[in-house]
Amino acid sequence: MSSQPLLPGSATGGQQTTLGVMGGGQLGRMFVQAAQAMGYYTVVLDPDVISPAGLVSHYHIKTDYLDELGLAQLMQRCAAITTEFENVPAPALMTLGSARPVAPSAEAVGIAQDRVKEKAHFVRCGVPCAPYAVIDSAAQLAAAADDLLPGILKTARMGYDGKGQVRVKTRAELAAAWDELKNVTCVLEQMLPLKAECSVIVARGWDGACVNLPVQLNLHREGILAVTSVFERNVPPALAERAVAAAKSIAEELQYVGVLCIEFFVLHDDSAEAQALGGLIVNEMAPRPHNSGHYSMNACDVSQFELQVRTLAGLPLVQPRQHSPAIMLNLLGDLWVNGAPPAWDQVLALPGAHLHLYGKLKASKGRKMGHLTLTGATVEEVRATALAAAAFLGIEAF
Ligand code: ATP
Ligand code: MG
Repeated sequence: MSSQPLLPGSATGGQQTTLGVMGGGQLGRMFVQAAQAMGYYTVVLDPDVISPAGLVSHYHIKTDYLDELGLAQLMQRCAAITTEFENVPAPALMTLGSARPVAPSAEAVGIAQDRVKEKAHFVRCGVPCAPYAVIDSAAQLAAAADDLLPGILKTARMGYDGKGQVRVKTRAELAAAWDELKNVTCVLEQMLPLKAECSVIVARGWDGACVNLPVQLNLHREGILAVTSVFERNVPPALAERAVAAAKSIAEELQYVGVLCIEFFVLHDDSAEAQALGGLIVNEMAPRPHNSGHYSMNACDVSQFELQVRTLAGLPLVQPRQHSPAIMLNLLGDLWVNGAPPAWDQVLALPGAHLHLYGKLKASKGRKMGHLTLTGATVEEVRATALAAAAFLGIEAF
């Protein structure tokens, strides 16, 4: 990309500067909203005719991700293009990248969408990850070390929200799990004693400038993010510092441009694994804004989606500042099970409650329909309102 930023709007009253996004899910929707707030026009490419992002974008190209005409139209309309999900086909990003600035690059997305390449990258960066073995043949299955059990067998590609994963205790279970996953390439990871999970979002520009959001403390339920808490000392400061440094080095090594989220495990201090691995383990990365960063829309002076716009357009990156402690609750389809919408009126009567719904027409179990962020003056206040909101919504206390 040239050193000239793509400034929003148009001085001549001619064509508006337009930014594109591959994928029309909720992350694309919030990117589009941030871009529009700054004066850009937007284009979404997603085959789904009523996608969350397509519903709010100036243009929606309703073709498959590899459709040549669709991609040509996207390139023709947009000055730069980003992605909102890591499983966008790499050849599509390569095509786009040949004619337009694309961030993150096809190469970076290609690494993040394959657990084998992703782990090799972490090893290259000297950031410890869970002990693992690549399984892509019966011989490798037989040769997997015993100390990886109990473990989790994860498909190398296309997993999300805990899908494409099987927990295994014995070699017999391992063999059955690999069959269940249709013998595709997998990684077998040792099951680690988790004390907590956290994540760090960094944004890196074309010029190498890199900023970060504060460390997010994440609670998962049934493999899906349920609650993210972000305030001073949500994790010990020394650990937070290490996590931020690791995230930045992972982005730097990739020459990454865009918003990148790195997920970490924190191990129990006294466990043998923590002694051996150093307590902080990198889990995986997402080459895009992340569910755990949604609180930044209401609790920080720059959101992760504005960071995505700024990195893509080559605008200056300024270190974000969190101005309020925050707790985010994910709103899953489970809340709509009896058909009626949840009690938003009660929830919105709470101080510092920020409701975000993604415009999805059908609720189903585990489907991310929206999120609710609670902000306040103190951690105690935010905890109290978040627990009250959870009680109104029937979300288990945390
Ligand atoms: P998402 O897309 O939601 O981030 P995913 O499907 O890519 O999830 P992972 O992040 O690999 O899956 O794992 C989902 C959850 O399973 C983790 O957040 C963690 O709670 C648990 N988990 C995964 N790997 C391990 C491990 N090696 N030891 C212990 N728990 C693990
Ligand atoms: Mg994960």
